[in-house]
Amino acid sequence: MTPAYIALGSNLGNPELQLREATTALDSLPESRLLKVSSLYRSLAVGPGRQPDYLNAVALMTTDLPPITLLDALQDIEHQQGRVRDVVWEARTLDLDLLLYGDVQIESLRLTVPHPRMQQRNFVLYPLREISDTNLALPNGTKLDTLLQQCPADGLVKTPGKLYKS
Ligand code: ADP
Ligand code: MG
Repeated sequence: MTPAYIALGSNLGNPELQLREATTALDSLPESRLLKVSSLYRSLAVGPGRQPDYLNAVALMTTDLPPITLLDALQDIEHQQGRVRDVVWEARTLDLDLLLYGDVQIESLRLTVPHPRMQQRNFVLYPLREISDTNLALPNGTKLDTLLQQCPADGLVKTPGKLYKS
């Protein structure tokens, strides 16, 4: 089994409900187990025009699914929850990104791992810190703590809401 970290985000409809349903869907993926889900974080939307705030969280799974199969599964869950893939970074009901898959590095047309934009995203790094070991590092050796020192928590609010376990 390989540990995989997934970022969850939503800023349309009922974000908390959609993230809760997404964790249920992650928990029922084949050959996989959901181990931890961070607190919910509220963040300011990045992208075109004015958009509602996002709710974000990060989940830790362990899986035997190959990375591309896991991406397929994440996109299935996004579609089941009504996301229309139209304009990149437009408001969406559910966004699921594969952040890390063990120490694997991938650069293919459909999949880049580690997720290419995770290093600058406070709404990814802070929830990731909450559910990971203190010594978590990217496959290239960069420590999560180093990324956090360079990434202010501006605009990010940890909420008391819990989606799942731990
Ligand atoms: P973003 O998540 O950056 O807001 P999208 O969710 O619209 O953007 O993703 C666009 C494309 O990114 C997807 O079609 C997918 O194939 C690709 N992609 C590449 N690497 C990853 C990854 N690690 N996790 C999720 N999607 C990825
Ligand atoms: Mg995405």
